[in-house]
Amino acid sequence: MACPPRAVSTSLSGRGRSGDGGCHDEDAEFKRGVRSVNERGAFVTGGASGIGLAAARQLAADGWSVAIADRDAAGLERAEAELAEWGERVVRLALDVTDEAAVAAAMAQAAERIGPLRGVVNSAGIAQNKPFDEITAAEFRRILDVNVVGTFLVARAAVAAMRTTGGGAIVNIASISGMRGNLGRTAYGASKGGVITMTQVMAVELARDGIRVNAVSPGPVDTPMVRALHPPEYRGAFERRVPLGRYARPEEIATVIAFLLDDERSSYITGQILGVDGGFLAAGVMQE
Ligand code: NAD
Repeated sequence: MACPPRAVSTSLSGRGRSGDGGCHDEDAEFKRGVRSVNERGAFVTGGASGIGLAAARQLAADGWSVAIADRDAAGLERAEAELAEWGERVVRLALDVTDEAAVAAAMAQAAERIGPLRGVVNSAGIAQNKPFDEITAAEFRRILDVNVVGTFLVARAAVAAMRTTGGGAIVNIASISGMRGNLGRTAYGASKGGVITMTQVMAVELARDGIRVNAVSPGPVDTPMVRALHPPEYRGAFERRVPLGRYARPEEIATVIAFLLDDERSSYITGQILGVDGGFLAAGVMQE
């Protein structure tokens, strides 16, 4: 006997219900990427690695269609393979977020491939650990270009799309280094301070469009960026100063990002800078 046609569920809680005597295996369809629970698309920059990759995985598991955008083409291929269980609901887009024309083109491509854009995660970023008076102007400008201007360009292009789809949510990735004077973080900290202020202004300006904007401010997270940047003695100092006594796993940041993107769960939260830092900001500052 053929199964009767069935409408796509529009709520997260609808997944996996079987009121038709098992005729539809919704979980299997959902997982294969045949259908998305909420028909909602998310654009994740820096999606090839670390926090961005973990966010993409969490969002796919929550029913989003996800475009992972990154300038690292090989990393993107690896990430797509890691997320293969979600089928066509995860697509990859090569993108340098500092390239204005490329950002516009990627956003248009994403709209075609992942459906209505309702979420953005700005995780693409670069970092540096260098004394104040050794930083070159070119290094400083490059960090601002990727971390601040890149975040702005992606968000601006996304907002244009979201205005046509009825709103959405944006999560920018800031850092505890944008909120405290951490040693070696002159340029990086300045860039993340910029992301924080930009997040607040965006939240105020875009609220009337139904677009919420928040930032997650992680403490040390065990990602490729940090493994390259934190020598063992530095790592030890962080572990002593973070009250929870360890680095975060990227998944611990991703669940918070997914919460802030979810219009059902965080509908009244906008303009917030949410520390996910093991208690670091409550305690103090890195001085060694
Ligand atoms: P990561 O290096 O693992 O991932 C960053 C990704 O961004 C990489 O895949 C990289 O290719 C991509 N990227 C860099 N420049 C880009 C550009 N111009 N265009 C497109 N993609 C670009 O690092 P991560 O630790 O996952 O960092 C993600 C974000 O979280 C960054 O903004 C970082 O500053 C922030 N953050 C990280 C930590 C931490 O401890 N890991 C703490 C606080 C904030």
